[in-house]
Amino acid sequence: MISASIRDEFFEQYKEFYNGGPVPLYASNDFAYYLECHRKRLEKKGIKTIKKIDRIEDDIDNTIHKDKQPYTLDMTYKECNYETEYYKDDVFLARSDKDTETLYCNILHKQDYQEQTISCPNCGHSDGAKTFVNGCPMCGTSFKTFKFFPCVTSFYTLPKFVERSSINKGLKNVVKYGIGLAVLVAVGVFIFNWHESGSIGAGLFFGILAGLLTGWLGTIFIYLGYSFFIGVTAFSKMFAQAADTSDIQAARFTKKRFENDMLRYFPDFSYEYFEGKMLALLRSIVFSDDRTNLSIYKGQDPLGYLDDVVDVEYRGGFKYEGSTVVGDVLHVRLINYVKCVVFCDGKLTKHYRNFKMELVRRLKSDEDLGFSIHAVNCSTCGATFDAMHVEKCPHCGNPYELINDDWVVIYVR
Ligand SMILES: [Zn+2]
Ligand SMILES: [Zn+2]
Repeated sequence: MISASIRDEFFEQYKEFYNGGPVPLYASNDFAYYLECHRKRLEKKGIKTIKKIDRIEDDIDNTIHKDKQPYTLDMTYKECNYETEYYKDDVFLARSDKDTETLYCNILHKQDYQEQTISCPNCGHSDGAKTFVNGCPMCGTSFKTFKFFPCVTSFYTLPKFVERSSINKGLKNVVKYGIGLAVLVAVGVFIFNWHESGSIGAGLFFGILAGLLTGWLGTIFIYLGYSFFIGVTAFSKMFAQAADTSDIQAARFTKKRFENDMLRYFPDFSYEYFEGKMLALLRSIVFSDDRTNLSIYKGQDPLGYLDDVVDVEYRGGFKYEGSTVVGDVLHVRLINYVKCVVFCDGKLTKHYRNFKMELVRRLKSDEDLGFSIHAVNCSTCGATFDAMHVEKCPHCGNPYELINDDWVVIYVR
């Protein structure tokens, strides 16, 4: 199946999920885990969100392929209106700003993938891996120690400037108003002349003439006025947004340097994949209700203040602050620009937050695009286990360190 249609199906189910529906079928098990954590947080806070993703007409819709045997990573993106509405006890609280975004969605394919058959650890029911995304279909037990392909691994949105579809709609109205005005003037002049001169012929002649003239000049003047209006609003909008996103624009300048630095360690490093990963890590840390023994976070700072966050939106960039290698461990420091929606003391507020983060990873191994923290293979006994909250294989006791396989956050503030 092509990535664009997987994405579109995924987002239909994503909207349904926030409406109380099941986890989207194409969500990778890591992503599904995050969605479930987010749902739990929202339930705990008594907040209901409605996600809206409206397609923009004459849109940008594209896919970048990246091959890394046996995987193909498809980064698809398109323009859309992505919006969230927040409710408490069915009372409307707030809506995220209604601007155009570019939506990025990473989809991972595996060559010659045969759907794995897995068994429920509780009741023994066995079936294809994908049927367990929402828990065991027989007994409901939820576990994530499996993978399947193709799957959606992450997505995020980047804000865009002026919305084009509204300008097109406006131009159609300009012509409509021009014609309307012409008809109005024509009828007026016709009746006036007919009444004054007593001749229908003269009334018609002057009426049509006046109508044509008004239609022509009127449309031109309305068009000029409208263009001026659009120009001014677009300009002020752009200006406001430029000021609003200047930190992100500046941060984006560090992209090239970051890529160059990473390519030295990982020959087929992907910026977009890392971006999705880094954001997924932050979101998982924010929405975890139990941060003790969290394999993805090894920091010292208490993170209890994150318990009131009900949503995290990426503002479109992170600033690379540098990297160092200590022993065989690579340290990457960055600032992640996000918008946090916080529900505290009965009030919903939005905050711009610049999270300083430090991520580490051991340099010994190659990046495995299909890696899942919830389905780690023990190098000693071969068993598959969920490493989110454990530091050793539950079957043979062999110690397990996530930084051998993936990025680990050691600092968030
Ligand atoms: Zn079961
Ligand atoms: Zn083991």
